[in-house]
Amino acid sequence: MRIVQKFGGTSVATPAKLRRVARRVRDAQRSGAEIVVVVSAMGDMTDELIALAHSITHDPASREMDMLLSSGETITAPLLAMSLEAAGTPALSLTGLQAGIRTSRAHRSARIVDIVPQRVLDELEQGRVVVVAGFQGATEDMDITTLGRGGSDTSAVALAVALAAERCEIFTDVAGVYTADPHLVPDARVLPEIAYDEMLEFAAAGARVIHPRAVEIAEAYSVEVRVLHSFEEHPGTIICRHPRMEERQKIRGIAHETDVAKVTLLRVPDRPGIAASIFGPFGDAGINVDIIVQNLAHDGTTDVSFTIAASDLRRARAMLPGVARSVAAQGYMATSDIAKISVVGTGIRGTPGMFARIFSTLAEAGINIEMISTSEIHITCIIERSQVREAVRALHQAFELEKI
Ligand code: ADP
Ligand code: ASP
Ligand code: MG
Repeated sequence: MRIVQKFGGTSVATPAKLRRVARRVRDAQRSGAEIVVVVSAMGDMTDELIALAHSITHDPASREMDMLLSSGETITAPLLAMSLEAAGTPALSLTGLQAGIRTSRAHRSARIVDIVPQRVLDELEQGRVVVVAGFQGATEDMDITTLGRGGSDTSAVALAVALAAERCEIFTDVAGVYTADPHLVPDARVLPEIAYDEMLEFAAAGARVIHPRAVEIAEAYSVEVRVLHSFEEHPGTIICRHPRMEERQKIRGIAHETDVAKVTLLRVPDRPGIAASIFGPFGDAGINVDIIVQNLAHDGTTDVSFTIAASDLRRARAMLPGVARSVAAQGYMATSDIAKISVVGTGIRGTPGMFARIFSTLAEAGINIEMISTSEIHITCIIERSQVREAVRALHQAFELEKI
């Protein structure tokens, strides 16, 4: 049996934690499995490296950022290999490039196009644990790339596919996928199982315990993923195709996201082609637009509001004067003082009264809804950032998620 185990930043933050991780990996290997470990950068190192770059320049080249940011993971991998050796387990570390992870050229959000895992397989054959630096890969031209924040999860699941592993285990600082962020909602519960499609929506809505792209890959290749606590014994959460029947048709959880900003173009003349003129340039600049709201005013002009990642706001602001001029908008506004909360679950589909329940819960808590977007399995509201905790707790209680 072959297993890919991924350990996140908090789980490898100190030498003592690395030693504990090594013991856990050693025990898994001694029970007879071939183990590939994927590691993140230690603690907040990625954030620190970003801050370091920004202390040099506000606009670093993405290629150089990838060289810099990938180094976080490049440090953890050999340290864990050394800890394993010290614990009596033969181990070897590899960078993403050495592990054969080939990606697109989109620096800072590269996509894995292919994995050539021969080296990994050879080392496993020799009885070694292979420790791979997560979050990184390389282009055809051997330029180092990174996979986007949280991307070590994606490295792990993609390696599990390439190595035909039995499953991928995501070890983190909480006991599994909860009904809401347990750091925000103390009585949140661990979901024993969740379907790929629900997990994908939950992760995309901000439940950052696993990266959405990792879930996408797991679903496409039917890899079983387990989310587990790095240091506590707990059954965790299984992400799979068909959870037991009674687990379906429910509200699974409340997600929140604070990396959100809202941009509004004011009094745009309402004529065909306007939307393309507004959103084309943002798309070309690689800025992802999420929720769009357009209100038709009576005098033939319209306010167009949309959300983007707060981390893209600086770049978006620089483009706004030009975009506003091109569509003859009478002004624009931008704020990152907002947040996104989402109710997620297949139970949303076909349950009457769902909107009323969410809106009245938020109204009773004195929370104003600025924008709304829905799909078959989520209802998302944009609210003021300072009210996130209150909103998530109120919705968690309204759907009685503490009782699952
Ligand atoms: P890692 O460093 O292990 O990758 P992350 O910080 O990326 O860990 O993800 C784990 C964190 O995700 C938890 O500490 C928790 O605060 C947060 N989180 C948000 N929503 C959820 C959820 N629904 N279930 C579990 N954790 C969640
Ligand atoms: N270290 C990277 C980050 O902080 C990747 C990861 O942890 O998954 O985003
Ligand atoms: Mg993570």
